[in-house]
Amino acid sequence: MIRLQPQTRRTSRTTLSSFESSSSKSAVVIGGGVAGWAAARVLNQLGWRVELHEKSPATASKGHALLLMKNGLRALESMGLRAELLRHGSNINFAKTRVAGLNNSEVLTDCVCLPRNALVDALVCSNEINLFHDSKVAGVEQDDRGSFVRFEDGRTRRADLIVGADGVRSVVREFVAPDFKIRMGRVQEFVALLPEVERGFLSTETVRKIHLPQLGLAAGIAPAGPGREVVWVQFDHQRWCQNQQSDQELLEKISANLPHAIATRIRNSQAVHRWRTCDAVTLEKMSRNHVLLVGDAAHPCLPFTSQGANAALVDAVNLGQALREHSQLVDALDQFCQESGATANLHLKAGRTLEREFLSGRMTALPRSASLAAA
Ligand SMILES: Cc1cc2nc3c(=O)[nH]c(=O)nc-3n(C[C@H](O)[C@H](O)[C@H](O)COP(=O)(O)OP(=O)(O)OC[C@H]3O[C@@H](n4cnc5c(N)ncnc54)[C@H](O)[C@@H]3O)c2cc1C
Repeated sequence: MIRLQPQTRRTSRTTLSSFESSSSKSAVVIGGGVAGWAAARVLNQLGWRVELHEKSPATASKGHALLLMKNGLRALESMGLRAELLRHGSNINFAKTRVAGLNNSEVLTDCVCLPRNALVDALVCSNEINLFHDSKVAGVEQDDRGSFVRFEDGRTRRADLIVGADGVRSVVREFVAPDFKIRMGRVQEFVALLPEVERGFLSTETVRKIHLPQLGLAAGIAPAGPGREVVWVQFDHQRWCQNQQSDQELLEKISANLPHAIATRIRNSQAVHRWRTCDAVTLEKMSRNHVLLVGDAAHPCLPFTSQGANAALVDAVNLGQALREHSQLVDALDQFCQESGATANLHLKAGRTLEREFLSGRMTALPRSASLAAA
């Protein structure tokens, strides 16, 4: 695994001007999550000079875990990273679900659970990329020379391609699609990644999930790589969040209704992350001029399809493919928008169906596996 080293901020004039004057094509990537690093990696492999700007002091460390599906694993394979990633994750071959007292078993293929940070670490190719931490973008603007990035500290950057990988609350999206509206997803998730609590409690290949439709709750537990587990709780936000309450109070209230193994793990975890999910119609176009959106900035995902990280990886592969096939950037971005837009629509539709099923109590199998069909 490539470990992240502390990065020196490279904001000197020399670095910036040499980036602008060299003969190969240049890209500025905004955001150092899965989508940003995957896109940066693919552009770098194509011979582009890439700069990545991340607002956090270090590449954002979000301590949750992800399920990688067939499409995400295929994307990693094409980047030459699949084998490395598998060392940090657990293959999940079975899903055992209990819904309203009834047990259900499913066989899963091509599904790996791993810490999000392990995925980002593997994507990082910091030696070849000019990496700027503490570098917060205020927005993208346009003048008679084209679009450019403006940073909060007043700096500006131009490049042949600007990639907005700055997540759900993207500021780059305000330039690409100023009218874009986002609404909160009704189902939210608490997620905790923790050291294995009891050796052998979990089969290394099985994800377990319980759905309590009458309470608007579901919870699951899965192995997430050597010596680690992930626990999550999905809840109907409208039903459980009627008053002002802290995350801790909410978690206490919810976990009182969960099986002991899940409740104790999530209560005792040092870091529980809350995923405030979003629902938004897919953008008609994910690019404007030479500014492109990828990952959550382009298509926020509802929780059930498990497609956020997978779709971000596929975006990078789609971008690489489009740039290889077209000599004109505008044509390549058009192709990207068509391909990634069509897939985002499928995931959105699947996510909304699954959300309805969750809320009505009709969900019988592991919801995430439904995204395999869409992938
Ligand atoms: C608790 C939790 C659990 C999740 N569980 C799952 C799951 O099980 N399965 C799944 O598929 N997905 C899951 N997701 C979603 C998934 O993590 C994302 O969809 C996926 O990682 C794609 O991320 P991204 O790179 O597009 O965005 P992000 O991971 O949000 O990365 C965006 C990056 O941009 C940086 N940034 C933002 N604004 C600026 C700015 N103005 N200037 C510079 N930098 C900026 C941020 O600091 C961040 O590093 C979960 C998310 C959360 C929070």
